[in-house]
Amino acid sequence: MSQSPNEPPMLGLGTWQNTDPEACANAVATALELGYRHIDTAQAYDNEEHVGDGLAQADIPRDDIFLATKVWIDQLAPDDVLSSTEESLDELGVDYVDLLYVHWPAGDYDAAETLAAFERLRDEGKIDHIGISNFEPDQVTEAIEVTDAPIFANQIECHPFLPQTELRDHCAANDIEVVAYSPLARGEVFDSPEIQAVAEKHDASEAQVSLAWLREKGVTAIPKATSETHIRDNWASRSVELDADDVARIDAIDERKRLVDPDFAPW
Ligand code: NAP
Repeated sequence: MSQSPNEPPMLGLGTWQNTDPEACANAVATALELGYRHIDTAQAYDNEEHVGDGLAQADIPRDDIFLATKVWIDQLAPDDVLSSTEESLDELGVDYVDLLYVHWPAGDYDAAETLAAFERLRDEGKIDHIGISNFEPDQVTEAIEVTDAPIFANQIECHPFLPQTELRDHCAANDIEVVAYSPLARGEVFDSPEIQAVAEKHDASEAQVSLAWLREKGVTAIPKATSETHIRDNWASRSVELDADDVARIDAIDERKRLVDPDFAPW
């Protein structure tokens, strides 16, 4: 049995669209060697095997790494949850993952049945924590109601153009961690005059400012980066300290953008 922490490490590495075997394994290994301890993948990213290669390449003890994957929407019937998770563990080359998310409340998702299968995986020691992703407040409440095991985290799109205040408050009230995906708004933060101004003030990059702003909100971020330069730049956001004026300036951005919006989304 593993010893996952009770909070996800605040800064992790995202891997969506990093499907080149070598680039993906190298990004994961580089991040781990620099100090990252949280890696995010998913069945749908078609790279669990390459992420596993990166884990092996880095030679960091398995229990020191917080590894998360997600079950795709066509694998959310109970038997499929169990069998597809076995495949994920196999691809990743690990005995357990720290966090297994329901990727979206869509497709074969049935709150009671799907989450019962997740509970079973937890009882069997194959996952440490149960996660949900792209859940809106009503679905968060439903998930809490149908399962006895704690819901550990809700992974949602969150960045200065989509601050998700209501959803974050709802998660906080229910002791659920928020993990921000697309924390750089998939590159859009670089063009924001407000973020550029704060970045200039701190002699920091726009990426670092966006990540530091999320940290101020108590949100874990998982920026995707492929090159060592980007992986390092994001890691260095940990020493960027925003003051109240900076946070207020970013909070005041009124432009709204949602970048991940498939037809089956619940909103
Ligand atoms: P993101 O992290 O906001 O942005 C990634 C983009 O920013 C990439 O093009 C990357 O380029 C670039 N970048 C990264 N660091 C940079 C830096 N310091 N300076 C300049 N450019 C930089 O977008 P995302 O990939 O959508 O989200 C992050 C992760 O969240 C995903 O990889 C995935 O793990 C997760 N996610 C989950 C869901 C879900 O439904 N649960 C949905 C979307 C994403 P390079 O790759 O060239 O370095």
